[in-house]
Amino acid sequence: MDLLLLGPPGAGKGTQGARLAEHLGLPKFATGDLLRDAVRRGTPLGLKARAVMEAGQLVSDEIILGVVRDELAKPAASRGVIFDGVVRTIPQAKGVEALLAELGRRMDHVLFFDVPDEELLARLERRRTLESRADDDPDAVAVRLKAYREQTAPVLDWYEQRGEVLRVDAVGSIEDIATRVHEALGIS
Ligand code: ADP
Repeated sequence: MDLLLLGPPGAGKGTQGARLAEHLGLPKFATGDLLRDAVRRGTPLGLKARAVMEAGQLVSDEIILGVVRDELAKPAASRGVIFDGVVRTIPQAKGVEALLAELGRRMDHVLFFDVPDEELLARLERRRTLESRADDDPDAVAVRLKAYREQTAPVLDWYEQRGEVLRVDAVGSIEDIATRVHEALGIS
C-alpha cells in the first residue's frame, strides 16, 4: 500500500506516520528528514538544499523526484511506502504518480491532517524551543506556511479530484489522532 501524508508544517504527520509505519510494517519516507540528514552530513544534496531549507522555501521538484526515485528502487519499498510530506507541489504529485506507475502502483490513499492555523503556530513555536531546528525560526515558519498555502494546498485539491483523500481531524492527543487515522483507513 502506498500512502501519502499531507498537511501543513506542524500537523503531526511525522509522529502519526512513524506509528503507522510500524503498525503496517512499511517503510516511512520523509523528504524533510532525508534532506536535514543530508545537510548535517554535508553531502552534495545537503549543500544544494541547505540555504533553501533554512529560508523555509521548497527545494526543487527535480531534487525531490530524484530522491523519490531512489527510495522506490530500494527493496524495502517494494510492498509500499508511507510518504510523509513528500509531495508539496503539483509537478511533484504528477512526478510521483509517474514513478509509481512505472512500478504498476498508484497512491492508494492520501491522509490529510487538518489543523487550524493558531494551533499550528503554537506547535511550531514549541518545537522550535525543544528541537532547535534551523527552519523553525519565526521568519522561516512564516515562509513555510506561505509555501504550504500557495504550493501545497493545491495538491490537496488535485488528489481530491481523484477521490483519494481521507481527512483526519488532527487536533487532540496523539492516541486520539492515531485512532482517527486507523478509522479513516479502515484498519484495526
Ligand atoms: P515541515 O513539514 O514542518 O515543513 P519537513 O521536515 O517535512 O518540515 O520539511 C523541512 C523542509 O524540507 C521544508 O521546509 C522544505 O524546505 C524541504 N522539503 C521537504 N520535503 C519537500 C518537498 N517534497 N518539496 C520541497 N521541499 C521539501
